[in-house]
Amino acid sequence: MQHVPFDSTQVFIGGRWRAGDSGQTLSLANPSDGSELTRIARGGAADIGAAVAAARAALAGTWGALTAAERGRVLLKMSAKVLEQADELARLEALDVGKPLKQARADAVALARYLEFYGGAADKVHGQTIPFANGYTALTLREPHGVTAHIVPWNYPMQIIGRSVGAALAMGNACVLKPAEEACLTALAFARIAGEAGIPAGALNVVPGLGEEAGAALAAHKGINHISFTGSVAVGALIQTAAAKNAVPVTLELGGKSPQLVFADADLDAALPFLVNAGIQNAGQTCSAASRILVQRPVFDEVVRRMAERYAALRIGPALDDLDIGPVISARQREIVMGYLEVVKSSGLKVAAAAPMPASLPRGGYYVPPTLVADVDPAHRIAQEEIFGPVQAVIPFGDDAEGVAIANGTAYGLVAGLWTRDGGRQLRLARQLQAGQVFVNNYGAGGGVELPFGGVKHSGHGREKGFEALYGFSTLKTIAIKHD
Ligand code: NAD
Repeated sequence: MQHVPFDSTQVFIGGRWRAGDSGQTLSLANPSDGSELTRIARGGAADIGAAVAAARAALAGTWGALTAAERGRVLLKMSAKVLEQADELARLEALDVGKPLKQARADAVALARYLEFYGGAADKVHGQTIPFANGYTALTLREPHGVTAHIVPWNYPMQIIGRSVGAALAMGNACVLKPAEEACLTALAFARIAGEAGIPAGALNVVPGLGEEAGAALAAHKGINHISFTGSVAVGALIQTAAAKNAVPVTLELGGKSPQLVFADADLDAALPFLVNAGIQNAGQTCSAASRILVQRPVFDEVVRRMAERYAALRIGPALDDLDIGPVISARQREIVMGYLEVVKSSGLKVAAAAPMPASLPRGGYYVPPTLVADVDPAHRIAQEEIFGPVQAVIPFGDDAEGVAIANGTAYGLVAGLWTRDGGRQLRLARQLQAGQVFVNNYGAGGGVELPFGGVKHSGHGREKGFEALYGFSTLKTIAIKHD
């Protein structure tokens, strides 16, 4: 409890903090040692109902009356406050999620950047006039959906709140945010920052709670006008079903099995850090984790050897020790990842490297050994299923066509990376890859707040980040005026 400098057991509704309606709380674990970090409200349908009503009132009140420039200034103030408090936000995120402090701090800086980007963009989205029949003036307006629901996971709370709530507020929506039950401290801190920055009451409401309770109540609520969901494919299907019943639009940011393709002509010195980091960052619990590394045969052995050397040097420990890798989020997640490592063993696959697990790791922490598996058949489970842990499969390929076929050969399509010096191949393959984002001679572009992001196939639909999100978080009205 001593770690959290505010009462984490409350919900934030209509600009006020109060206990959840049921009065019940849930335990929040510290993944680094398995202890109870603090307790959070077990929000439920009554809290969600109150939050949606508060959001609706905000649209009809002060928040709805602000100009786009005024909304933008609120977001810019929030951005400045996030930066001022970045160290504290990073500490909370590290304790809550288990990610090393420097990764958590990068997330806080990204949150500030999202708020800066969307604060600056708020008054730069506009409609058009349309050449139409004589005697008419026709125009379009970009309008907010109304009340937007934001259901976010535990792996990157700050970044995902920044990209979805930031864009939704910029367009004038009023938000109800349901953070994940495994990690929600920075969502609560974010609400406090919004309050300090003077956001009008009800524009942002935060209700922690279980997915099947608060989350399901929010997704099914008849008073919401849009859902932004980031999480698993299975829950995404439930969300889309709930949205269909109320005919509201939904953005689904789901899982991935993202490949990086390394060609024989690639600059391997440049590629190597990206190949490994994109697999082990946040202990592999990243939707866009490069969990498949496809390597052209002439350089296959060299790439595996050099990746293995990097694995051997990885340092694992508690989040606040700020090493390379922390624990995974929960005992359940640990079990899932260890289950896949059992599959690796029982299938007789070749473990090219397993990072050393120090004896000093706190007992009770949810640590798993980062593992590199070589020569994996592209059809094998560990090359097809999202593991969400620090496990990478390295797969050999021959020519361009085979590389693309393997890359596209999963149910997912979130991100892909290409490492080649051949300009023609860069363009040709970037077009052929089934993914929402393709990076050439880099991976992730440092987060890319400005770059539209989202999936194809089971990775979801709709786009967040960049300017594109502003269109997603608004609806277009056409007006045709007959004046002659
Ligand atoms: P999850 O789907 O279990 O949970 C995500 C959120 O949904 C949580 O807030 C949870 O409380 C809520 N939820 C759970 N059941 C619900 C229900 N029945 N109704 C409404 N809400 C419910 O996902 P997770 O295990 O927490 O997160 C990991 C998954 O998220 C991975 O598949 C990962 O790839 C994906 N993810 C995707 C992106 C992206 O941008 N594409 C980013 C991060 C994570």
